[in-house]
Amino acid sequence: MRPKTQRAYRRTMHSYSLGFGFRPPYQLLVDADFCLEASKQKIDMATELENTFQEPTKTFITECSIQELRKQQGPAAAGANGLARKFERRRCPHTHQPIASADCVAQVIGPENKYNYCVGSQNVELRNKLREIPGIPMFYVKSHMIIMEMMSKKSKEAIKKLEQEKMLPSAKENEKLKSAKMIASTKEEEPKKKKKTKGVNPLACKKSTKIPPPPPKKRKRELEEKEKKKKAKKEEDEEKEPSVIEPTPEKQEDTGADDTEEKKKKRRRRKKTKKTDAEQQVTPNPEENSSNNNNDVEEQ
Ligand SMILES: [Zn+2]
Repeated sequence: MRPKTQRAYRRTMHSYSLGFGFRPPYQLLVDADFCLEASKQKIDMATELENTFQEPTKTFITECSIQELRKQQGPAAAGANGLARKFERRRCPHTHQPIASADCVAQVIGPENKYNYCVGSQNVELRNKLREIPGIPMFYVKSHMIIMEMMSKKSKEAIKKLEQEKMLPSAKENEKLKSAKMIASTKEEEPKKKKKTKGVNPLACKKSTKIPPPPPKKRKRELEEKEKKKKAKKEEDEEKEPSVIEPTPEKQEDTGADDTEEKKKKRRRRKKTKKTDAEQQVTPNPEENSSNNNNDVEEQ
């Protein structure tokens, strides 16, 4: 067998294992015609199966197939019976009334191939029939070798569907997603409620009403006291300010008045002095001057 074909068989069995859960040792179910053809072509069954599947295998044969082989005659039939004895027997519901080997195999496989059998048959009709059921690897004898069929369209489609289903969330995952969505929705709702409660919560309102008022009173008192102090200061300032501000004009006026009075006095004194001088010039008596001075004082 070419390594290329061996790789192809490995790939097909790998895809069967991924898609349908085939695991080694692979269970092979063969019919009477397969055993006859293998004995005709003198195939070394063990080595050929190993080359084809490249994994440990268990070969089964049904009672109906054994009964059919026993009816055959000739050298090929003897070899086939010898092969069948080496295989494990698969019980079928036809022990008392055996049916055709191909039909028995089809019945054992059933509509779903529950037990993951790989079917070995030379019957083309049987293989065509089983090709319609997804997940049945099939093999046959040809040119002294065991040939594995390529994967059927039904099997490929089933694997594609499975892959798509795997991509989608499972039932459990859906439940988890739903719960997560619910949680997310509740989480989304909660903040809204909080926003609402912030405005509506009466306790918060009471706190806001209770606490703020006192400071205003205190502030009012403080403000009132401050205002009083300010007023008092202003009054004081007003009282002080005029004395400070007014004096300058008053003083100036006073000074002006004083000046005028002083000037008047000076003028008077000057006039008197002039008069006295004139008198002294006329009558230079110290006593009279003193008397004149006294007169000035009296005039004032
Ligand atoms: Zn049967």
